[in-house]
Amino acid sequence: MSNEHPHEHQVLNPATEEVIATVPAATPADVDAAVTRAARAQTGWAALAPGDRARLLRRFATAVDDHLEELAQLEVREAGHPIAGARWEAGNVRDLLEYAAGGVERLAGSQIPVPGGLNITFQEPLGVVAVIAPWNFPMPIAAWGTAPALAAGNAVLLKPAETTPLTALRLAELATEAGLPDGLFQVLPGAGPVAGEALVEHPRVAKVVFTGSTAVGKRIMAKCAAGVKRVTLELGGKSPNIVFADADIERAARSAPGSFLDNTGQDCCARSRILVQRGVYDRFMELLEPAVRSFAVGDPAEPGTAMGPLISAAQRERVRSYVTEDARVAIRGEAPAGKGFWYPATVLEGVGPTHRAAVEEIFGPVAVVLPFEDEADAVRLANATDYGLSGSIWTRDVGRAVRVSRAVAAGNLSVNSHSSVRYWTPFGGYKQSGLGRELGPGALAAFTETKNVFISTEEQ
Ligand code: NAD
Repeated sequence: MSNEHPHEHQVLNPATEEVIATVPAATPADVDAAVTRAARAQTGWAALAPGDRARLLRRFATAVDDHLEELAQLEVREAGHPIAGARWEAGNVRDLLEYAAGGVERLAGSQIPVPGGLNITFQEPLGVVAVIAPWNFPMPIAAWGTAPALAAGNAVLLKPAETTPLTALRLAELATEAGLPDGLFQVLPGAGPVAGEALVEHPRVAKVVFTGSTAVGKRIMAKCAAGVKRVTLELGGKSPNIVFADADIERAARSAPGSFLDNTGQDCCARSRILVQRGVYDRFMELLEPAVRSFAVGDPAEPGTAMGPLISAAQRERVRSYVTEDARVAIRGEAPAGKGFWYPATVLEGVGPTHRAAVEEIFGPVAVVLPFEDEADAVRLANATDYGLSGSIWTRDVGRAVRVSRAVAAGNLSVNSHSSVRYWTPFGGYKQSGLGRELGPGALAAFTETKNVFISTEEQ
């Protein structure tokens, strides 16, 4: 194997650049052995009474709850997330495990009236599922695929991102302590092109749940096509925050920084395109400036911190490349000097709607503000991207809120709010932001195959 894909990865604290762990990187042979173990465990797991599967998943949820603070602190150290957000993330894993456990006994087939017999459907588990997770929300996103897949009777092999394997490894230990069968949920840290591809290509992996960049998602989808493998893709975004003149402009401006600075902008739902109706543009910008400046940047372990560092030096270079000379820096926040992958909050204006910074996912604390004339113009601008993950609409006009929500091609919209993710509502993208949905009432069914059986009632 080349040096590009070593047999182990160093994990850095992005706030200090210190090495905090060294983790072995799975080889294709490791992946193959893991799939064999997982397949063995899955047979017994699927045969358990639904109530017993649910009980074990609840125990797993309790183990996560008992270690909430430890998991949150680990997320702070490996991902640089502010502690308040990291606690929410650990809680999200627990909640999702409980929600999925609640679905086990409700995962029912159906009986459909047909002439000449009895027609019944069964929701059967797929077998071994691969979950490939990104580094931006390592814990919750790993759980979004893992919890419902396990609940529906599958085994899960989770490949965390190279930079953030530690919380995933800890979750696997907690699953074992909670009594989940040996091999049912395994974590395989490693390089995407090695361990990730080996999982995607493995003939006994029935489904791939991938969250990450659109470029890698396309490659994975093509590989899944070769094996007619099930695939769910949660990819990038370039979500609009549309502020109409009739909105509560103060609230819209006060809340805007959080919508593109949370997680240092490394959020697939970041509202990094702020579209403001021309009549209130200047007022909005006046209010946005102090709101951005008051966003507390610094040590993620401090309770008052709202924004930490970027994940890596490479990510910082990428972000920097979008702040080009032809864009005007309207607002610039502070960033600590010295060690750590820091980048200041930056608001750009004066760029055209086709500028790179206005259409590509930056994945950093940078937003572009674009003026619009009327509702039709706002919708046109909102849709002028290959992405369609989420978006916000600020207006006091209920009719407009509904019209624009229906007209914007995105999977998760919020009105007078920036909320996108709830474990009990469906989440996913339109266009190149993804394929399929996670979370919500359909989460377990997405990890099943529907079998239809017809039993003749004709006299023999
Ligand atoms: P990435 O695509 O580089 O990597 C994601 C995962 O895929 C990692 O585990 C990586 O090791 C693995 N991988 C890389 N190459 C692979 C290959 N050839 N085969 C198999 N696996 C491979 O993405 P990232 O930089 O870790 O994450 C950031 C991206 O994730 C952003 O684009 C962001 O928008 C997206 N994201 C989307 C959602 C969503 O729900 N839609 C949520 C979070 C992040």
